[in-house]
Amino acid sequence: MSNSPAAEAARRRTFAIISHPDAGKTTLTENLLLAGGAIRAAGAVRARGENRRTRSDWMKIERERGISVSASVMTFDHDGLMFNLLDTPGHEDFSEDTYRTLTAADAAVMVLDAAKGIEPQTLKLFEVCRLRDIPIVTFINKMDREAQDPIELLDEIASKLALDPAPLYWPAGSGGRFKGMLDLRNQQFLPFAKKTADNKDEGHPAAIGFAGNAVSSYLNPDERAELEETAMLVGEASKPFDPQAFLEGHMTPVFFGSALRHFGIDQLLAGLGAYAPPPKAVAAAKGGAATHIVPGDPEVTGFVFKVQANMDPNHRDRIAFLRLCSGKFARGMKLKVQNTGRQLSVNAPIMFFASDRELAEEAFAGDVIGIPNHGVLRVGDSLSETGTIRFAGLPNFAPEILQRVRVKDPLKAKHLKKALEGLAEEGVTQLFRPQFGADFIVGAVGQLQFEVMADRLANEYQLDVQFEASPFAEARWVTGTKAEIEDFTAKHKTAMATDIDEQPVFLAKSAWELGYVVERYPTVAFHRTRERG
Ligand code: GDP
Repeated sequence: MSNSPAAEAARRRTFAIISHPDAGKTTLTENLLLAGGAIRAAGAVRARGENRRTRSDWMKIERERGISVSASVMTFDHDGLMFNLLDTPGHEDFSEDTYRTLTAADAAVMVLDAAKGIEPQTLKLFEVCRLRDIPIVTFINKMDREAQDPIELLDEIASKLALDPAPLYWPAGSGGRFKGMLDLRNQQFLPFAKKTADNKDEGHPAAIGFAGNAVSSYLNPDERAELEETAMLVGEASKPFDPQAFLEGHMTPVFFGSALRHFGIDQLLAGLGAYAPPPKAVAAAKGGAATHIVPGDPEVTGFVFKVQANMDPNHRDRIAFLRLCSGKFARGMKLKVQNTGRQLSVNAPIMFFASDRELAEEAFAGDVIGIPNHGVLRVGDSLSETGTIRFAGLPNFAPEILQRVRVKDPLKAKHLKKALEGLAEEGVTQLFRPQFGADFIVGAVGQLQFEVMADRLANEYQLDVQFEASPFAEARWVTGTKAEIEDFTAKHKTAMATDIDEQPVFLAKSAWELGYVVERYPTVAFHRTRERG
Protein backbone atom coordinates (compact mmCIF):
# COMPACT_ATOMS: atom_id res chain seq x y z
CA MET A 1 0.00 0.00 0.00
CA SER A 2 2.88 2.32 -0.53
CA ASN A 3 2.98 5.54 -2.44
CA SER A 4 4.84 6.45 -5.59
CA PRO A 5 8.60 7.09 -5.36
CA ALA A 6 7.96 10.81 -5.89
CA ALA A 7 5.37 11.05 -3.10
CA GLU A 8 7.51 9.00 -0.71
CA ALA A 9 10.61 11.09 -1.46
CA ALA A 10 8.61 14.26 -0.83
CA ARG A 11 8.02 13.23 2.78
CA ARG A 12 11.70 12.53 3.50
CA ARG A 13 13.84 14.95 5.49
CA THR A 14 17.45 13.82 5.49
CA PHE A 15 19.71 16.03 7.56
CA ALA A 16 22.90 16.17 9.58
CA ILE A 17 23.86 18.16 12.65
CA ILE A 18 27.04 20.20 12.51
CA SER A 19 28.69 21.78 15.50
CA HIS A 20 31.89 22.42 17.37
CA PRO A 21 32.58 19.72 19.99
CA ASP A 22 30.61 20.34 23.20
CA ALA A 23 28.02 22.66 21.67
CA GLY A 24 25.44 19.96 22.37
CA LYS A 25 25.10 17.86 19.23
CA THR A 26 24.70 14.60 21.11
CA THR A 27 22.17 16.08 23.51
CA LEU A 28 20.22 17.64 20.67
CA THR A 29 20.27 14.38 18.68
CA GLU A 30 18.80 12.56 21.61
CA ASN A 31 16.16 15.15 22.24
CA LEU A 32 15.15 15.24 18.60
CA LEU A 33 14.72 11.47 18.76
CA LEU A 34 12.63 11.93 21.89
CA ALA A 35 10.52 14.62 20.28
CA GLY A 36 10.11 12.45 17.19
CA GLY A 37 8.92 9.55 19.31
CA ALA A 38 11.86 7.40 18.27
CA ILE A 39 13.11 6.78 21.80
CA ARG A 40 11.21 6.86 25.02
CA ALA A 41 13.79 7.87 27.58
CA ALA A 42 16.90 9.94 27.69
CA GLY A 43 20.11 8.00 27.99
CA ALA A 44 20.61 6.05 24.80
CA VAL A 45 22.56 8.64 22.88
CA ARG A 46 23.90 10.48 25.90
CA ALA A 47 26.00 7.54 26.98
CA ARG A 48 27.97 7.99 23.84
CA GLY A 49 28.62 11.67 24.42
CA GLU A 50 29.78 11.18 27.97
CA ASN A 51 31.97 8.26 27.13
CA ARG A 52 33.70 10.20 24.47
CA ARG A 53 35.22 12.49 27.06
CA THR A 54 38.32 10.41 27.58
CA ARG A 55 40.21 8.87 24.77
CA SER A 56 40.52 5.41 26.23
CA ASP A 57 36.79 5.25 26.81
CA TRP A 58 36.20 6.50 23.37
CA MET A 59 38.40 3.79 21.86
CA LYS A 60 36.42 1.22 23.75
CA ILE A 61 33.27 2.64 22.26
CA GLU A 62 34.77 2.47 18.79
CA ARG A 63 35.53 -1.19 19.44
CA GLU A 64 31.98 -1.89 20.37
CA ARG A 65 31.20 -0.81 16.89
CA GLY A 66 27.58 -1.79 17.18
CA ILE A 67 26.90 1.59 18.69
CA SER A 68 28.59 3.70 16.10
CA VAL A 69 27.18 1.68 13.24
CA SER A 70 23.60 2.01 14.35
CA ALA A 71 24.15 5.66 15.22
CA SER A 72 25.44 6.51 11.74
CA VAL A 73 21.92 7.20 10.66
CA MET A 74 18.80 7.40 12.77
CA THR A 75 15.48 7.13 11.07
CA PHE A 76 12.17 8.11 12.59
CA ASP A 77 8.67 8.60 11.36
CA HIS A 78 6.97 11.67 12.79
CA ASP A 79 4.01 13.78 11.83
CA GLY A 80 3.65 12.07 8.47
CA LEU A 81 7.32 12.64 7.60
CA MET A 82 10.33 10.31 7.59
CA PHE A 83 13.35 11.93 9.19
CA ASN A 84 16.80 10.53 8.52
CA LEU A 85 19.31 12.05 10.90
CA LEU A 86 22.87 11.41 9.74
CA ASP A 87 25.42 11.33 12.51
CA THR A 88 28.74 13.00 11.95
CA PRO A 89 31.70 12.26 14.16
CA GLY A 90 32.43 15.17 16.45
CA HIS A 91 36.19 14.96 16.73
CA GLU A 92 37.99 17.13 14.25
CA ASP A 93 40.39 14.35 13.34
CA PHE A 94 37.51 12.76 11.57
CA SER A 95 36.42 15.72 9.55
CA GLU A 96 37.01 13.81 6.33
CA ASP A 97 34.38 11.32 7.35
CA THR A 98 32.12 14.23 8.24
CA TYR A 99 32.58 15.81 4.83
CA ARG A 100 31.49 12.59 3.15
CA THR A 101 28.46 12.25 5.38
CA LEU A 102 27.39 15.77 4.47
CA THR A 103 27.28 14.73 0.81
CA ALA A 104 24.37 12.48 1.79
CA ALA A 105 22.43 15.20 3.65
CA ASP A 106 19.81 17.52 2.15
CA ALA A 107 19.96 20.00 5.04
CA ALA A 108 22.01 20.64 8.15
CA VAL A 109 21.24 21.90 11.63
CA MET A 110 24.02 24.12 12.89
CA VAL A 111 24.16 24.02 16.68
CA LEU A 112 25.76 26.98 18.40
CA ASP A 113 26.58 27.24 22.06
CA ALA A 114 24.82 30.46 23.05
CA ALA A 115 27.81 31.52 25.15
CA LYS A 116 30.38 30.84 22.46
CA GLY A 117 28.77 31.58 19.12
CA ILE A 118 30.58 30.40 16.03
CA GLU A 119 33.60 28.28 16.86
CA PRO A 120 36.37 27.05 14.51
CA GLN A 121 34.86 23.64 13.75
CA THR A 122 31.45 25.19 13.14
CA LEU A 123 33.00 27.42 10.53
CA LYS A 124 34.85 24.58 8.81
CA LEU A 125 31.75 22.44 8.57
CA PHE A 126 29.65 25.36 7.47
CA GLU A 127 32.03 25.91 4.56
CA VAL A 128 31.51 22.34 3.41
CA CYS A 129 27.75 22.83 3.55
CA ARG A 130 28.05 25.99 1.52
CA LEU A 131 30.24 24.24 -1.04
CA ARG A 132 27.52 21.67 -1.50
CA ASP A 133 24.62 24.15 -1.32
CA ILE A 134 23.16 22.51 1.77
CA PRO A 135 20.60 24.78 3.47
CA ILE A 136 21.32 25.48 7.14
CA VAL A 137 18.94 25.70 10.07
CA THR A 138 20.48 27.36 13.14
CA PHE A 139 19.79 26.18 16.67
CA ILE A 140 21.18 28.39 19.43
CA ASN A 141 21.58 26.00 22.32
CA LYS A 142 22.17 26.26 26.05
CA MET A 143 19.90 29.25 26.61
CA ASP A 144 19.48 27.96 30.17
CA ARG A 145 23.06 29.11 30.72
CA GLU A 146 24.46 32.61 30.64
CA ALA A 147 24.45 33.49 26.94
CA GLN A 148 25.87 36.19 24.70
CA ASP A 149 23.51 38.94 23.62
CA PRO A 150 21.36 37.20 20.98
CA ILE A 151 21.61 40.23 18.69
CA GLU A 152 25.37 39.83 18.74
CA LEU A 153 24.99 36.15 17.92
CA LEU A 154 22.93 37.08 14.87
CA ASP A 155 25.55 39.64 13.86
CA GLU A 156 28.19 36.97 14.11
CA ILE A 157 26.21 34.65 11.80
CA ALA A 158 25.85 37.48 9.31
CA SER A 159 29.46 38.60 9.39
CA LYS A 160 31.34 35.30 9.76
CA LEU A 161 29.13 33.15 7.53
CA ALA A 162 27.77 35.79 5.16
CA LEU A 163 24.34 34.33 5.82
CA ASP A 164 21.18 36.30 6.65
CA PRO A 165 19.87 35.13 10.02
CA ALA A 166 16.10 35.15 10.27
CA PRO A 167 15.02 34.46 13.86
CA LEU A 168 11.68 32.69 14.13
CA TYR A 169 11.71 32.96 17.92
CA TRP A 170 13.18 35.45 20.32
CA PRO A 171 14.46 34.52 23.78
CA ALA A 172 13.52 36.19 27.06
CA GLY A 173 16.76 36.34 29.02
CA SER A 174 19.26 33.55 29.50
CA GLY A 175 20.83 31.49 32.27
CA GLY A 176 19.03 31.79 35.60
CA ARG A 177 16.87 34.52 34.08
CA PHE A 178 15.82 32.52 31.02
CA LYS A 179 12.04 32.70 30.93
CA GLY A 180 11.11 31.31 27.54
CA MET A 181 10.75 32.64 24.04
CA LEU A 182 8.40 34.52 21.82
CA ASP A 183 7.21 33.01 18.55
CA LEU A 184 7.77 35.97 16.25
CA ARG A 185 5.38 34.68 13.64
CA ASN A 186 2.28 34.42 15.80
CA GLN A 187 3.15 36.41 18.96
CA GLN A 188 2.72 33.39 21.21
CA PHE A 189 4.92 33.17 24.28
CA LEU A 190 6.46 29.78 25.14
CA PRO A 191 7.32 29.68 28.85
CA PHE A 192 10.41 27.83 30.01
CA ALA A 193 9.73 25.71 33.09
CA LYS A 194 11.93 26.07 36.11
CA LYS A 195 13.62 22.80 36.94
CA THR A 196 11.38 20.60 39.04
CA ALA A 197 12.68 19.27 42.33
CA ASP A 198 13.25 15.82 40.87
CA ASN A 199 15.10 17.28 37.88
CA LYS A 200 12.36 16.44 35.40
CA ASP A 201 12.68 18.00 31.98
CA GLU A 202 9.07 17.68 31.02
CA GLY A 203 6.27 20.06 31.54
CA HIS A 204 7.17 23.33 29.91
CA PRO A 205 3.85 25.21 30.09
CA ALA A 206 1.76 25.56 26.94
CA ALA A 207 2.19 28.60 24.70
CA ILE A 208 0.05 31.64 25.55
CA GLY A 209 -0.75 34.89 23.77
CA PHE A 210 1.95 37.49 24.41
CA ALA A 211 -0.48 40.38 24.21
CA GLY A 212 -2.75 39.26 27.05
CA ASN A 213 -2.36 39.43 30.80
CA ALA A 214 -1.61 35.75 31.29
CA VAL A 215 2.00 36.32 30.31
CA SER A 216 2.55 38.18 33.56
CA SER A 217 2.69 34.89 35.42
CA TYR A 218 5.94 34.18 33.58
CA LEU A 219 7.47 37.59 32.97
CA ASN A 220 7.66 40.55 35.32
CA PRO A 221 6.88 43.97 33.80
CA ASP A 222 10.57 44.73 33.16
CA GLU A 223 11.20 41.40 31.47
CA ARG A 224 8.12 41.79 29.39
CA ALA A 225 9.08 45.29 28.29
CA GLU A 226 12.58 44.14 27.44
CA LEU A 227 11.33 41.22 25.36
CA GLU A 228 8.89 43.48 23.58
CA GLU A 229 11.61 45.98 22.79
CA THR A 230 14.31 43.54 21.67
CA ALA A 231 11.83 41.54 19.59
CA MET A 232 10.75 44.73 17.87
CA LEU A 233 14.34 45.77 17.31
CA VAL A 234 15.30 42.46 15.80
CA GLY A 235 12.17 42.47 13.68
CA GLU A 236 13.25 45.78 12.20
CA ALA A 237 16.91 44.85 11.84
CA SER A 238 16.58 41.42 10.26
CA LYS A 239 14.98 40.31 7.04
CA PRO A 240 11.79 38.26 7.35
CA PHE A 241 12.24 34.54 6.82
CA ASP A 242 12.13 33.68 3.14
CA PRO A 243 11.97 29.90 2.50
CA GLN A 244 13.39 30.33 -0.99
CA ALA A 245 16.43 32.29 0.23
CA PHE A 246 16.94 29.54 2.81
CA LEU A 247 16.86 26.80 0.16
CA GLU A 248 19.33 28.76 -1.92
CA GLY A 249 21.72 29.03 1.01
CA HIS A 250 21.48 32.79 1.60
CA MET A 251 19.40 32.71 4.75
CA THR A 252 19.15 30.63 7.89
CA PRO A 253 16.08 30.39 10.13
CA VAL A 254 17.21 30.75 13.75
CA PHE A 255 15.75 28.73 16.63
CA PHE A 256 16.62 29.03 20.29
CA GLY A 257 16.41 26.52 23.10
CA SER A 258 18.01 24.20 25.56
CA ALA A 259 18.66 20.70 24.31
CA LEU A 260 19.42 19.51 27.80
CA ARG A 261 16.10 20.78 29.15
CA HIS A 262 14.18 19.69 26.07
CA PHE A 263 13.10 23.23 25.32
CA GLY A 264 12.66 24.50 21.76
CA ILE A 265 13.08 21.00 20.35
CA ASP A 266 9.52 20.47 19.12
CA GLN A 267 9.75 23.85 17.40
CA LEU A 268 13.03 22.90 15.71
CA LEU A 269 11.61 19.57 14.55
CA ALA A 270 8.48 21.26 13.21
CA GLY A 271 10.72 23.81 11.45
CA LEU A 272 12.71 21.02 9.80
CA GLY A 273 9.49 19.40 8.68
CA ALA A 274 8.11 22.63 7.27
CA TYR A 275 11.19 24.16 5.68
CA ALA A 276 14.00 21.60 5.20
CA PRO A 277 13.92 20.34 1.63
CA PRO A 278 12.99 16.85 0.55
CA PRO A 279 15.54 15.07 -1.69
CA LYS A 280 16.14 16.98 -4.89
CA ALA A 281 17.48 16.14 -8.34
CA VAL A 282 21.14 15.11 -8.29
CA ALA A 283 23.65 15.72 -11.07
CA ALA A 284 25.01 12.49 -12.52
CA ALA A 285 26.32 10.92 -15.68
CA LYS A 286 24.45 8.20 -17.56
CA GLY A 287 26.62 6.30 -19.96
CA GLY A 288 28.99 9.27 -19.99
CA ALA A 289 26.34 11.94 -20.74
CA ALA A 290 25.42 14.52 -18.09
CA THR A 291 21.96 14.10 -16.64
CA HIS A 292 19.92 14.67 -13.50
CA ILE A 293 18.52 11.92 -11.35
CA VAL A 294 15.10 12.92 -10.03
CA PRO A 295 13.78 11.26 -6.82
CA GLY A 296 10.65 10.10 -8.66
CA ASP A 297 12.61 8.31 -11.42
CA PRO A 298 11.61 4.66 -11.57
CA GLU A 299 15.18 3.33 -11.58
CA VAL A 300 16.69 2.77 -8.13
CA THR A 301 19.95 4.68 -7.79
CA GLY A 302 22.22 5.73 -4.96
CA PHE A 303 25.80 6.24 -3.82
CA VAL A 304 27.93 4.86 -1.01
CA PHE A 305 29.11 7.63 1.31
CA LYS A 306 30.48 5.55 4.12
CA VAL A 307 31.74 2.04 4.74
CA GLN A 308 32.14 0.65 8.19
CA ALA A 309 33.41 -2.63 9.58
CA ASN A 310 30.63 -4.73 10.94
CA MET A 311 30.12 -4.95 14.67
CA ASP A 312 31.23 -8.55 14.80
CA PRO A 313 35.04 -8.58 14.71
CA ASN A 314 35.08 -12.28 13.82
CA HIS A 315 33.54 -11.55 10.48
CA ARG A 316 35.26 -9.48 7.93
CA ASP A 317 32.10 -8.13 6.44
CA ARG A 318 31.43 -4.48 6.29
CA ILE A 319 28.40 -2.31 6.00
CA ALA A 320 28.21 0.14 3.13
CA PHE A 321 25.86 3.08 3.69
CA LEU A 322 23.93 3.77 0.54
CA ARG A 323 22.11 7.06 0.15
CA LEU A 324 19.23 6.45 -2.23
CA CYS A 325 18.61 9.09 -4.90
CA SER A 326 15.66 7.69 -6.82
CA GLY A 327 13.18 4.89 -7.32
CA LYS A 328 11.56 2.44 -4.97
CA PHE A 329 14.06 0.08 -3.45
CA ALA A 330 12.72 -3.31 -2.45
CA ARG A 331 14.54 -5.98 -0.48
CA GLY A 332 16.19 -8.63 -2.65
CA MET A 333 16.70 -6.23 -5.51
CA LYS A 334 19.78 -6.53 -7.70
CA LEU A 335 21.93 -3.45 -8.01
CA LYS A 336 25.03 -2.90 -10.13
CA VAL A 337 28.15 -0.99 -9.21
CA GLN A 338 28.85 1.51 -11.97
CA ASN A 339 32.65 1.43 -12.12
CA THR A 340 33.18 -2.32 -11.72
CA GLY A 341 29.99 -3.58 -13.30
CA ARG A 342 29.59 -6.00 -10.42
CA GLN A 343 26.08 -6.94 -9.50
CA LEU A 344 24.87 -7.66 -6.02
CA SER A 345 21.61 -8.92 -4.63
CA VAL A 346 20.65 -6.76 -1.72
CA ASN A 347 18.96 -9.37 0.42
CA ALA A 348 19.64 -8.00 3.87
CA PRO A 349 19.50 -4.22 3.67
CA ILE A 350 19.41 -2.56 7.06
CA MET A 351 17.45 0.46 8.16
CA PHE A 352 18.64 2.12 11.33
CA PHE A 353 16.05 3.11 13.82
CA ALA A 354 17.14 4.83 16.99
CA SER A 355 17.47 1.81 19.18
CA ASP A 356 17.04 -0.92 16.64
CA ARG A 357 18.13 -2.05 13.24
CA GLU A 358 15.59 -3.63 11.00
CA LEU A 359 15.57 -5.24 7.61
CA ALA A 360 14.41 -2.69 5.11
CA GLU A 361 11.60 -4.03 3.00
CA GLU A 362 11.46 -0.88 0.94
CA ALA A 363 13.17 2.47 0.85
CA PHE A 364 13.03 5.65 -1.21
CA ALA A 365 15.13 8.64 -2.22
CA GLY A 366 16.53 10.32 0.87
CA ASP A 367 16.74 7.08 2.84
CA VAL A 368 19.98 5.46 3.83
CA ILE A 369 20.26 1.70 3.83
CA GLY A 370 23.12 -0.36 5.18
CA ILE A 371 24.32 -3.08 2.83
CA PRO A 372 26.45 -5.83 4.37
CA ASN A 373 29.13 -6.97 1.91
CA HIS A 374 32.61 -8.43 1.82
CA GLY A 375 34.52 -5.52 0.44
CA VAL A 376 32.66 -5.28 -2.89
CA LEU A 377 31.37 -1.81 -2.08
CA ARG A 378 33.61 1.16 -1.56
CA VAL A 379 33.15 4.76 -0.57
CA GLY A 380 32.15 6.75 -3.65
CA ASP A 381 30.56 3.84 -5.52
CA SER A 382 27.44 4.57 -7.54
CA LEU A 383 24.79 1.85 -7.57
CA SER A 384 21.81 1.48 -9.85
CA GLU A 385 19.67 -1.17 -11.47
CA THR A 386 21.25 -0.71 -14.88
CA GLY A 387 24.73 0.06 -13.55
CA THR A 388 25.02 3.00 -15.94
CA ILE A 389 24.49 5.88 -13.51
CA ARG A 390 27.48 7.62 -12.00
CA PHE A 391 27.21 10.28 -9.32
CA ALA A 392 30.04 12.75 -8.74
CA GLY A 393 32.72 11.10 -6.66
CA LEU A 394 33.30 11.78 -2.99
CA PRO A 395 36.41 13.71 -2.16
CA ASN A 396 39.59 12.34 -0.63
CA PHE A 397 41.60 15.07 1.06
CA ALA A 398 45.37 15.34 1.03
CA PRO A 399 46.46 14.00 4.42
CA GLU A 400 48.21 16.25 6.88
CA ILE A 401 50.28 13.53 8.55
CA LEU A 402 52.17 10.82 6.68
CA GLN A 403 53.66 7.92 8.59
CA ARG A 404 55.42 4.72 7.73
CA VAL A 405 53.82 1.60 9.08
CA ARG A 406 55.66 -1.61 9.93
CA VAL A 407 54.43 -4.88 11.31
CA LYS A 408 56.60 -6.28 14.08
CA ASP A 409 56.38 -9.85 12.76
CA PRO A 410 57.86 -9.77 9.24
CA LEU A 411 55.99 -12.95 8.30
CA LYS A 412 52.80 -10.95 8.48
CA ALA A 413 53.71 -8.41 5.80
CA LYS A 414 51.16 -9.76 3.34
CA HIS A 415 48.49 -9.78 5.97
CA LEU A 416 49.33 -6.17 6.76
CA LYS A 417 48.85 -5.16 3.14
CA LYS A 418 45.35 -6.60 3.12
CA ALA A 419 44.47 -5.00 6.42
CA LEU A 420 45.73 -1.57 5.34
CA GLU A 421 43.82 -1.81 2.11
CA GLY A 422 40.69 -2.73 4.03
CA LEU A 423 40.98 0.29 6.30
CA ALA A 424 41.72 2.58 3.37
CA GLU A 425 38.63 1.31 1.54
CA GLU A 426 36.63 2.14 4.61
CA GLY A 427 38.11 5.62 4.52
CA VAL A 428 39.65 5.31 8.00
CA THR A 429 43.06 6.32 6.68
CA GLN A 430 44.66 6.70 3.27
CA LEU A 431 47.25 4.36 1.91
CA PHE A 432 50.17 5.22 -0.34
CA ARG A 433 52.53 2.72 -1.83
CA PRO A 434 55.88 4.28 -2.75
CA GLN A 435 57.45 3.16 -6.02
CA PHE A 436 60.60 2.33 -4.13
CA GLY A 437 60.89 0.38 -0.93
CA ALA A 438 58.57 -2.10 0.66
CA ASP A 439 57.02 0.19 3.27
CA PHE A 440 53.55 1.54 3.13
CA ILE A 441 52.88 5.16 3.90
CA VAL A 442 49.66 5.86 5.76
CA GLY A 443 48.09 9.28 5.60
CA ALA A 444 45.62 10.86 8.00
CA VAL A 445 44.17 14.22 8.80
CA GLY A 446 44.82 13.87 12.53
CA GLN A 447 46.93 11.87 14.99
CA LEU A 448 43.93 10.18 16.57
CA GLN A 449 43.26 8.34 13.33
CA PHE A 450 46.56 6.48 13.75
CA GLU A 451 45.62 5.41 17.22
CA VAL A 452 42.25 4.13 16.11
CA MET A 453 43.96 2.38 13.24
CA ALA A 454 46.56 0.65 15.49
CA ASP A 455 43.75 -0.41 17.77
CA ARG A 456 41.73 -1.88 14.95
CA LEU A 457 44.74 -3.61 13.38
CA ALA A 458 45.43 -5.29 16.72
CA ASN A 459 41.85 -6.26 17.47
CA GLU A 460 40.47 -7.15 14.11
CA TYR A 461 43.53 -8.35 12.27
CA GLN A 462 45.79 -9.47 15.16
CA LEU A 463 48.58 -7.30 13.81
CA ASP A 464 51.01 -5.59 16.10
CA VAL A 465 52.18 -2.56 14.17
CA GLN A 466 54.46 0.35 14.69
CA PHE A 467 54.13 3.78 13.15
CA GLU A 468 57.30 5.67 12.38
CA ALA A 469 57.97 9.11 11.09
CA SER A 470 58.13 9.11 7.32
CA PRO A 471 60.34 11.44 5.36
CA PHE A 472 57.26 13.01 3.79
CA ALA A 473 55.18 15.97 4.88
CA GLU A 474 52.81 16.62 1.97
CA ALA A 475 50.93 14.51 -0.53
CA ARG A 476 49.38 15.70 -3.78
CA TRP A 477 47.62 13.82 -6.52
CA VAL A 478 49.19 14.64 -9.87
CA THR A 479 47.45 14.82 -13.21
CA GLY A 480 48.54 15.82 -16.69
CA THR A 481 49.06 14.22 -20.08
CA LYS A 482 50.52 10.72 -20.08
CA ALA A 483 53.87 12.00 -21.33
CA GLU A 484 54.00 14.73 -18.68
CA ILE A 485 53.23 12.31 -15.88
CA GLU A 486 55.79 9.80 -17.15
CA ASP A 487 58.42 12.48 -17.38
CA PHE A 488 57.58 13.84 -13.95
CA THR A 489 57.56 10.38 -12.41
CA ALA A 490 60.92 9.50 -13.95
CA LYS A 491 62.46 12.60 -12.45
CA HIS A 492 60.97 12.07 -8.98
CA LYS A 493 61.16 8.32 -8.59
CA THR A 494 61.79 8.31 -4.86
CA ALA A 495 58.94 10.70 -4.19
CA MET A 496 56.25 8.96 -6.21
CA ALA A 497 53.61 6.64 -4.86
CA THR A 498 50.21 5.31 -5.85
CA ASP A 499 47.02 5.50 -3.84
CA ILE A 500 44.50 2.73 -3.34
CA ASP A 501 43.05 3.33 -6.78
CA GLU A 502 46.52 3.22 -8.40
CA GLN A 503 46.48 6.98 -8.96
CA PRO A 504 49.88 8.72 -8.94
CA VAL A 505 50.73 10.77 -5.88
CA PHE A 506 53.68 13.05 -5.32
CA LEU A 507 55.09 12.98 -1.79
CA ALA A 508 57.06 16.06 -0.79
CA LYS A 509 59.41 16.30 2.16
CA SER A 510 58.29 19.79 3.03
CA ALA A 511 55.87 22.49 2.02
CA TRP A 512 58.84 24.36 0.60
CA GLU A 513 59.80 21.44 -1.64
CA LEU A 514 56.22 21.12 -2.78
CA GLY A 515 56.09 24.80 -3.69
CA TYR A 516 59.35 24.51 -5.58
CA VAL A 517 58.22 21.49 -7.60
CA VAL A 518 54.81 23.01 -8.35
CA GLU A 519 56.55 26.06 -9.76
CA ARG A 520 58.95 24.04 -11.87
CA TYR A 521 56.23 21.96 -13.48
CA PRO A 522 53.54 24.38 -14.57
CA THR A 523 51.89 21.84 -16.88
CA VAL A 524 51.45 19.20 -14.18
CA ALA A 525 48.49 19.74 -11.87
CA PHE A 526 48.88 19.04 -8.16
CA HIS A 527 45.63 18.33 -6.32
CA ARG A 528 44.72 18.56 -2.68
CA THR A 529 41.60 16.49 -3.18
CA ARG A 530 40.66 13.65 -5.42
CA GLU A 531 37.17 12.46 -6.18
CA ARG A 532 36.77 8.74 -5.78
CA GLY A 533 34.31 6.58 -7.59
P1 GDP B 1 28.62 17.45 21.63
O1 GDP B 1 30.09 17.33 21.90
O2 GDP B 1 28.34 18.59 20.71
O3 GDP B 1 27.95 16.18 21.22
O4 GDP B 1 27.97 17.93 23.02
P2 GDP B 1 27.15 17.15 24.11
O5 GDP B 1 25.74 16.94 23.69
O6 GDP B 1 27.90 15.96 24.57
O7 GDP B 1 27.10 18.29 25.24
C1 GDP B 1 28.27 18.81 25.82
C2 GDP B 1 27.96 19.24 27.24
O8 GDP B 1 27.04 20.30 27.23
C3 GDP B 1 27.34 18.13 28.07
O9 GDP B 1 27.84 18.20 29.37
C4 GDP B 1 25.85 18.46 28.03
O10 GDP B 1 25.17 18.01 29.17
C5 GDP B 1 25.89 19.96 27.98
N1 GDP B 1 24.70 20.52 27.31
C6 GDP B 1 24.20 20.19 26.09
N2 GDP B 1 23.11 20.92 25.82
C7 GDP B 1 22.91 21.73 26.88
C8 GDP B 1 21.92 22.72 27.21
O11 GDP B 1 21.00 23.01 26.46
N3 GDP B 1 22.06 23.35 28.42
C9 GDP B 1 23.08 23.06 29.27
N4 GDP B 1 23.12 23.71 30.41
N5 GDP B 1 24.00 22.14 29.00
C10 GDP B 1 23.92 21.48 27.83
